[in-house]
Amino acid sequence: MQKSYKVIIIGAGPAGISTALNLKKNGIDDVLIVEKKMFPRYKCCAGYITNKTKQEFFKLGLDIEKCHYTLIKDFNIYYEYSIRQKIKNKFLYTNDVIDRVELDNAFFELAKDMGVKVLENRYIIHNDFTEKTITLNDERTLKYETLIFADGMNGYGSKFQEFNEKNIAMQLTFDSTLKNEIQIHFGVTERGYVWVSSNNGITNVGLTDVYDINKNYALIFKNLLERLGLKPDIENLRGAFTPIGLGNPILHGNVYFVGDIVGACDPLTLSGLRYGLKCGEKCALSIAKNNTKIYANYIKSLKIKFNLMKKMQKIFYKKKIINLIFNVGCRYFKGIISFVFNNFFVNKK
Ligand SMILES: Cc1cc2nc3c(=O)[nH]c(=O)nc-3n(C[C@H](O)[C@H](O)[C@H](O)COP(=O)(O)OP(=O)(O)OC[C@H]3O[C@@H](n4cnc5c(N)ncnc54)[C@H](O)[C@@H]3O)c2cc1C
Repeated sequence: MQKSYKVIIIGAGPAGISTALNLKKNGIDDVLIVEKKMFPRYKCCAGYITNKTKQEFFKLGLDIEKCHYTLIKDFNIYYEYSIRQKIKNKFLYTNDVIDRVELDNAFFELAKDMGVKVLENRYIIHNDFTEKTITLNDERTLKYETLIFADGMNGYGSKFQEFNEKNIAMQLTFDSTLKNEIQIHFGVTERGYVWVSSNNGITNVGLTDVYDINKNYALIFKNLLERLGLKPDIENLRGAFTPIGLGNPILHGNVYFVGDIVGACDPLTLSGLRYGLKCGEKCALSIAKNNTKIYANYIKSLKIKFNLMKKMQKIFYKKKIINLIFNVGCRYFKGIISFVFNNFFVNKK
């Protein structure tokens, strides 16, 4: 006989775990998460967290400081490889290893401790929206009342969404002797930024850009390392896409998309954690109240916000504008640049 669940969630990333915990908060316990990997698992992400993201985790019972996150002291802003301004940081947190392995694992363990059922090392290979069933790689078929795709940009759920544009983000983490510092570079990629984050003997170099199929990003990354005078082993270079634009939040009234797969990631800053967590809250509420509008309206509000960010992205990265900001702004309007960077760029993460 087929096993049946009220809700099946595909993916145990931040969006999937948040949905499961919020369903629990709303009295829905008959939930199963299907996760492709075994935890702790690596996710290509710098894992920076702002106050706002921190609060979202805290609401769900996770204290990021217990996952070794601390507030960054300050940033050094670079344009075309020369330093323009030091900014006192107010909102951004990072950890020693500058990745998300410990954080994601703690969130995952928290869900398990709260009684959420998870099938690790399993992935969906087939689905039937009419019969409301999914088939897993171990050939088991499971029945659901509601199905939630929380499986990121390249998961099974991605075949039901279409993104005309996306950001590419690449990063490389390695041991180094660089002093503790966070550098944010502009003017390296056409419509994105670069971070060089060094913390207690570990450095993480990352770049973002609006993805262009004709560009060789591995080569761009190599050139970046050369310009920075760094010679790490490039074998561990990792990359992933982040969405630009919002997708369809709900199909057939009982299939939801949360996190990256619905486009809940800021196109300008690449901040996705905060919105993935919030998607979980709104999606769970929709299911509990049997009202799809709650979730649909949340995604609509993100659409308005991210469209604005997308427009800002287009304007900000125009050669004349970016030149003006870093050549004139950083010289004569340091206070304003600091304020905008801290509140608008960073705190959106
Ligand atoms: C290089 C880089 C740097 C970034 N930096 C930041 C940052 O500093 N701060 C920030 O807020 N955001 C950042 N982001 C964005 C952030 O990583 C994402 O927005 C966030 O991970 C989205 O969470 P999610 O739960 O939707 O998806 P994911 O975190 O991708 O989780 C999806 C889960 O689904 C599982 N899965 C996939 N396919 C299947 C399947 N078929 N069956 C079952 N399970 C499956 C995966 O194993 C994974 O565990 C960055 C992204 C990149 C690429």
